[in-house]
Amino acid sequence: MKNSPNPGSGALKVIPRAAHNVSRDEISNAALKVLYRLHKAGYQAFLVGGGVRDAMLELHPKDFDIATNATPEEVRSLFSNCRLIGRRFRLAHVRFGREIIEVATFRAAANHKDDDSSHDTEGRILRDNVYGSVEADVWRRDFTCNALYYNIADFSIWDYTGGFEDVKRKRLVLIGDPAQRLREDPVRMLRAVRFAGKLGFTIDESVVEAMRGHTGLLTNVPAARLFDEFLKLFQAGFAERTFNLLREHKLFGELFPATEEELAKDDSYLAFTHAALKNSDKRVAEGKSVTPMFLLGVFLWAPIKKLAAIRRSEEKMSESQALGLAAYEIVSQQQQRISIPKRFTVPMREMLSLQPRFEFVRGKRAMNLLEHRRFRAAYDFMLLQSEIGEVDESLAKFWTDVQTQSAEERAVSFQMEKTPGSNRGTRRRRRRKPAQDS
Ligand code: ATP
Ligand code: MG
Repeated sequence: MKNSPNPGSGALKVIPRAAHNVSRDEISNAALKVLYRLHKAGYQAFLVGGGVRDAMLELHPKDFDIATNATPEEVRSLFSNCRLIGRRFRLAHVRFGREIIEVATFRAAANHKDDDSSHDTEGRILRDNVYGSVEADVWRRDFTCNALYYNIADFSIWDYTGGFEDVKRKRLVLIGDPAQRLREDPVRMLRAVRFAGKLGFTIDESVVEAMRGHTGLLTNVPAARLFDEFLKLFQAGFAERTFNLLREHKLFGELFPATEEELAKDDSYLAFTHAALKNSDKRVAEGKSVTPMFLLGVFLWAPIKKLAAIRRSEEKMSESQALGLAAYEIVSQQQQRISIPKRFTVPMREMLSLQPRFEFVRGKRAMNLLEHRRFRAAYDFMLLQSEIGEVDESLAKFWTDVQTQSAEERAVSFQMEKTPGSNRGTRRRRRRKPAQDS
């Protein structure tokens, strides 16, 4: 822990309302209601975690976590719209329309020294299911910036770890011994990178150093949890920055080993990946939807193309077929790291297999592609390829133009004989804008 003050000193610093900028305007009404009702009933009630951190940074937090000394049952008795979840450690979910406020009872951190059975042989936490006080609750949290407690009783912030200064200085500092905290939960490495990407924070040197020796531990993290983290890393609107950080800290290769291998030797593929990440961030900024299958397709594209070429040299098949087959194999390999649900892998395979079909084709084949249910995503993918010069510009333009053409114009583009069937199909699509959804 060179260069950084010990965040574990533990003396409570109370920052009064006048000395901080966390305004109730930044907190949702639902979260405020829960805080006030707990307080009125005589319990301690704090807003914690990302809600406080992001409010300090004036980032308009969307997600609010509350910590209290009320037990889950006591919380439930205060709210009719409340459900208890979790078996090992019970949490209360209080629902207001679509918003869910998570209320957790203070919990004590699993402690190495006190209890060996709370960690496995690699140091991962097995158990942290003991209720505690607010002082105890602080130490189970990951970064100092995530361990600030906003007290609804007087709107002050309670800080045991120096998190207040760290938010101001935009630093990510792990609470306690960094190496031990990463061994307890290797996902904290991904969280460090995610917060650095989203908040523009610097990862403290002590954390960077500890990460160096522990990246390999991600292999032990359940693949389903890594999929959740994958979504948080790449769907929040900071995908490009996060990707760069993941690579810088040698974490990307732990998540996508085959992709990292290709990225390291193929600049054009790296440029394509950047174009896709930029595009995805732009969509989020514009409030458009993003689907994880698109970026997954981008990440697996180079390994899939490479394997498809091998499969085609072994056996006679079309390029589309080879891509579909290779996609199947590469996805199975990838599932060992990150479990991607079928509802994403199936459309992803379709999107990739369509790529060779973007040609100057005519007639029924052209129409079939245009009417394919995966056309819009496949078209977006192809457009990114053309952006970096992997697909001919005039070809991209052809497929852009046909989408806005009238049935008559399109029949000319596709050199189609008009039949009643094709006419019906094209008329329906006449006024559609160029595909944008990915
Ligand atoms: P965001 O909501 O922007 O993702 P957050 O900091 O609120 O950020 P959550 O995953 O919502 O993150 O978790 C809420 C809080 O719970 C965190 O701020 C942190 O204090 C604690 N926490 C979450 N995950 C971990 C973890 N793996 N290890 C230790 N503490 C954690
Ligand atoms: Mg949160």
